[in-house]
Amino acid sequence: MKLAFIGLGVMGYPMAGHLQKSGHQVCVYNRTEAKAIAWQQEYGGDYAITPRLASENADIVFCCVGNDDDVRQVVLGDDGILAGLASDKILVDHTTASAELAKELSSAAAEQGVKFLDAPVSGGQAGAENGVLTVMVGGEQEAFNVVEPVMSAYAKFSQLMGDVGSGQLAKMVNQICIAGVVQGLAEGFSFAEKVGLDPDKLVATIAKGAAGSWQMENRYKTMFAGEYEFGFAVDWMRKDLSIAFNEADKHQVDLSVARMVDGFYQEVQDLGGNRWDTSSLIARYKNK
Ligand code: NAP
Repeated sequence: MKLAFIGLGVMGYPMAGHLQKSGHQVCVYNRTEAKAIAWQQEYGGDYAITPRLASENADIVFCCVGNDDDVRQVVLGDDGILAGLASDKILVDHTTASAELAKELSSAAAEQGVKFLDAPVSGGQAGAENGVLTVMVGGEQEAFNVVEPVMSAYAKFSQLMGDVGSGQLAKMVNQICIAGVVQGLAEGFSFAEKVGLDPDKLVATIAKGAAGSWQMENRYKTMFAGEYEFGFAVDWMRKDLSIAFNEADKHQVDLSVARMVDGFYQEVQDLGGNRWDTSSLIARYKNK
């Protein structure tokens, strides 16, 4: 297939690489051109100097940028993706954004006969690099059926959750759950340190029981060591939580734990942790 990929960040760069390696013809666009040139040197394929030019011959265009406004900037306007896309083609947005944006872009795409899927991902930088992401999708079954086998280049599992916007709603649940789990670990591990327990023995034991989680197994070493310069940035987590809070307000859902943890993330930012991994919640307890 002819594909385009817009946004070669921590996630998009390896995702687009997996598509090219799996035998598709990929044309990429990145706002900072140097990354597009580096991508072409690493994987082959083409790059273009606007999202429109990258999309012109594509059957499916994928994008993975920052937030709602960033997605609007690459999708809409004279140089945007939609200006380059013919009818019957498909636009897939992997950005973590609002469900409202998904509906807005789905309508704009439908005006020219283009299908839109909101498709945020979970699995982080390692998941993107190793091609084992999980994708939560909203939109029409027919478009999902076309896109799913293509996404399998970088996804170990994709699920159509329902109508447009429901992929983003599922991602909101994912982030609400992570906030609570990581804060639980931050408290538990700081308690363990104070009472003098051995981290390896502790986690080897309790991770096998009811408290076990991906975060516990994959983050305990760095949390105890106070290492946070990797992974999923606190700035991104706060962006994602604010999207969830806006949606929760519309439905009068109580997210009091997630809101409290969001406040703790603000304290982590005050410590200089904007780009630290989300597990840096434990930094609030260090040296206390
Ligand atoms: P990133 O490394 O900061 O990369 C962002 C990419 O978007 C860059 O290629 C950037 O271009 C481009 N971009 C941003 N704003 C733009 C704009 N207004 N116009 C054109 N291009 C723009 O971010 P990331 O970690 O890949 O994350 C991307 C998305 O995936 C976010 O929504 C994030 O929440 C989500 N996500 C991330 C992870 C993770 O672990 N990192 C996990 C799951 C989901 P430049 O190179 O020019 O800056």
